[in-house]
Amino acid sequence: MNSVDLENITKVYGGTTPSVDDISLTVGDGEFFTLLGPSGCGKSTTLRMIAGFISPTSGTIRFGDRDVTKLPPHKRDTGMVFQNYALFPHMDVTGNVVYGLSMRHVGKEEKRTRVAKALEIVGLDGYADRRIDQLSGGQQQRVALARALVIEPSVLLLDEPLSNLDAKLREETRAQIRQIQQRAGTTSVYVTHDQSEAMAMSDRIAVMSAGTLHQVGAPREIYRRPATSFVARFIGRSNVLEGVVEGVESRRLAVRLDGGEALFAPIVADTLSSQVVKGDRVALSLRPETLRIDPVEETTGAPVGAIRATVRMSEFTGSSCVIWLRYGEQDLLATIPDTDDLPRDGEDVLLRPDTGRTWVVAP
Ligand code: ADP
Repeated sequence: MNSVDLENITKVYGGTTPSVDDISLTVGDGEFFTLLGPSGCGKSTTLRMIAGFISPTSGTIRFGDRDVTKLPPHKRDTGMVFQNYALFPHMDVTGNVVYGLSMRHVGKEEKRTRVAKALEIVGLDGYADRRIDQLSGGQQQRVALARALVIEPSVLLLDEPLSNLDAKLREETRAQIRQIQQRAGTTSVYVTHDQSEAMAMSDRIAVMSAGTLHQVGAPREIYRRPATSFVARFIGRSNVLEGVVEGVESRRLAVRLDGGEALFAPIVADTLSSQVVKGDRVALSLRPETLRIDPVEETTGAPVGAIRATVRMSEFTGSSCVIWLRYGEQDLLATIPDTDDLPRDGEDVLLRPDTGRTWVVAP
């Protein structure tokens, strides 16, 4: 079983603030698992602890039932792919890919078959004799991947491997990496700060901020059911409004926003919405596509279930219109189907969130 278990992992480099703060998670056998978060949140530190390049200050790391916390990197059986590829530029493709096997004293014949197989997996059969500097960035990254896979590692670790590629190549290569990983079936931990990359590639994602783990889940689950306001804002776009739980009914909550209006949110079992009680401080995540825009009915205020905001500007994007609004001190965003009847800049409107898709998050 090539699962990876992190149990209460903390890393303090110096000083008192942990760079990684009590993280526990399990990467399943064969899973493509991504550590996602903004720069400096502790992703690379976590990956390097899994690789064994740095030791956790406390906590336990297991591969399957093997405790590897104190093992040096070369005894952990991991393959690593870096942002800068770290290829040997003066060697050909074979020279680069065979490297890990030579280090392990694998026999000549076996080296030949394993290199050929690794190159086939990454779609570079026929490139064995090419020099590294004759390859495109995307091909170089696939050589790096072949070099990591050829040793048949129990865990493949990838640290922002696409950051040096331009946008178009990045999208192509991410799809290829995903296919290659599925073909090889290797348990993989991937680090990125790019949420769309994480969503497109991963079986599951761990969202991190400032050394802490905010949520672990499948891409859709994290998008639809963010656990915290940070996750709601970081994954896709969201309007996050804070307030206090004012009433708990059998199937929905009423939340009195700091701005004064009351909105409803459904109670969903095993999520924060089912755990809060009257008086708790929460935030509501409203995705831009779940807001309807109506004309105001009164000179001031808003009816229950709506908030009153001022249109700052509208943008026609083809299939839809993006409306930027101001609500108190906060900027809000709504995307609506295109219409000839857009609200004017400076106009007050009522925003009616789709109650079924209003989501309660930790503030
Ligand atoms: P990420 O990969 O998410 O960008 P890192 O794991 O590289 O984040 O860094 C997390 C935090 O730990 C940052 O505040 C960073 O400055 C700090 N850090 C990383 N490496 C070291 C180091 N070798 N010594 C001291 N602090 C470090």
